[in-house]
Amino acid sequence: MMSGLAKYTCEACGQEHEDWPALTWDSPLQYNILPDEVKKARADLDSDFCVIRHDAQVDRFIRVSLVQPVHGRCDGLHYGLWVSLSEEKFLAYADKYGNREADAARYFGWLCNEIPGYDSTLSIPMNVTTRIGNLRPVVEPHQDFDHPFVRDYYRGISLAEAERRVQELLDVVSKRESGYGQ
Ligand SMILES: [Zn+2]
Repeated sequence: MMSGLAKYTCEACGQEHEDWPALTWDSPLQYNILPDEVKKARADLDSDFCVIRHDAQVDRFIRVSLVQPVHGRCDGLHYGLWVSLSEEKFLAYADKYGNREADAARYFGWLCNEIPGYDSTLSIPMNVTTRIGNLRPVVEPHQDFDHPFVRDYYRGISLAEAERRVQELLDVVSKRESGYGQ
């Protein structure tokens, strides 16, 4: 068990579970690697959208949620990630955004973050499903894409592995708060 995390009573099983923080990224890797002056001149980023205007093309990204199933736990491990979308799908999503009554839709996207513990997770193909009520879209990797992250997603990970990932995140956050690695 981990210390310092709030607990909640689970509606599904009636047991107490630790309230795990989500593992989140504030931006896609394609944005993170840009020099500051390029970010300023050629990119727009907010909590849910990112656009990068290159000379040859414009890249468009949205923030999404992924739930990694965990054995022995009702709720999974939540990830906040970015995927790239085609111009058409990006505009369709932007059009729905903020409209609580918009119907759910399905898009195709490429994963745009490096998830620790795996060889590159960039460009894993994802199904993106928008949700009603302004919740972030959920993503699922394409099951036939051969990658350890995809296999873990469909098989589920152990409770110990999930706790290790949460602890790693908490360690990074506490180091940031103490000024380490700035
Ligand atoms: Zn439960």
